[in-house]
Amino acid sequence: MRKTYTAAGMAVIAIFLPGCVVAGPFLALAMLVVASIAYGAAVAALRPAQGRVEVFIGTDAEPAVRARAVVNSAGLEAHHVAASIEGFPRQHIPKIFYGKGSYFELTGKSPFARLIYPAPPTSGGHLGIHMTLDLSGAARFGPDLEWVDCVDYRVEPSRAAAFGDAIKEYWPQLEAASLKPAYAGVRPKLSGPGEGSRDFYISGPAEHGVAGIVNLFGMESPGLTSSLALGDYIAALLA
Ligand SMILES: Cc1cc2nc3c(=O)[nH]c(=O)nc-3n(C[C@H](O)[C@H](O)[C@H](O)COP(=O)(O)OP(=O)(O)OC[C@H]3O[C@@H](n4cnc5c(N)ncnc54)[C@H](O)[C@@H]3O)c2cc1C
Repeated sequence: MRKTYTAAGMAVIAIFLPGCVVAGPFLALAMLVVASIAYGAAVAALRPAQGRVEVFIGTDAEPAVRARAVVNSAGLEAHHVAASIEGFPRQHIPKIFYGKGSYFELTGKSPFARLIYPAPPTSGGHLGIHMTLDLSGAARFGPDLEWVDCVDYRVEPSRAAAFGDAIKEYWPQLEAASLKPAYAGVRPKLSGPGEGSRDFYISGPAEHGVAGIVNLFGMESPGLTSSLALGDYIAALLA
């Protein structure tokens, strides 16, 4: 653990972690996949029937699958998929807020070889604009938090000024002109503006009463990092 001191004389504690892994989600998924995936198969409705869950795809009148169990992990759409389950109790479907997170990348070589996570902002809702290295070693900063009503992945270039201010808290030498828009993601959040962060909401048959269904809501960060533990937890709910 290292201590640094700001100009105002306040102690700021940084934690130094010598070993840390940057992993691409697609590679992680590819290493885990043991089932077949049907791309473009949008689930339109689910119907519990005779101890199974019937899965309807697109406009098909007949179910494509009769499954012993269905795990609704539709991310930003999970609340809509839950609402499409015939007879599902509405009180077990939470309100979802969309928290967009934009990233900017640094043009040129990264001056850092390690990831930098500042102390999270007191306003809550996200971890703060941190610096990570992508798989090619380039530096990118983000994500910030912007409440949006619909999913839109465009990065607004004017957000660079706020990024610059946040990054200069831990890297005063940043030249603001060296930031360029990179990409954005949208978090499905269970708490809205001004509210404290909420944990994932995972509910199985023992809670909502519908056999064979597990719903995953609010699966924002660190959903990917904790995915193996989540898998064990969900399997136990269905055992
Ligand atoms: C900006 C940002 C930064 C993040 N950073 C991190 C991080 O550093 N570490 C970390 O661990 N996590 C991070 N996360 C969170 C991580 O991305 C999620 O926890 C993870 O992707 C959740 O996985 P999921 O499979 O539950 O949902 P998703 O990845 O959202 O996948 C849901 C899938 O369901 C599909 N779908 C939706 N509706 C239907 C339908 N009707 N029928 C069929 N399919 C449907 C979607 O197309 C999508 O493919 C971040 C998220 C964001 C937005």
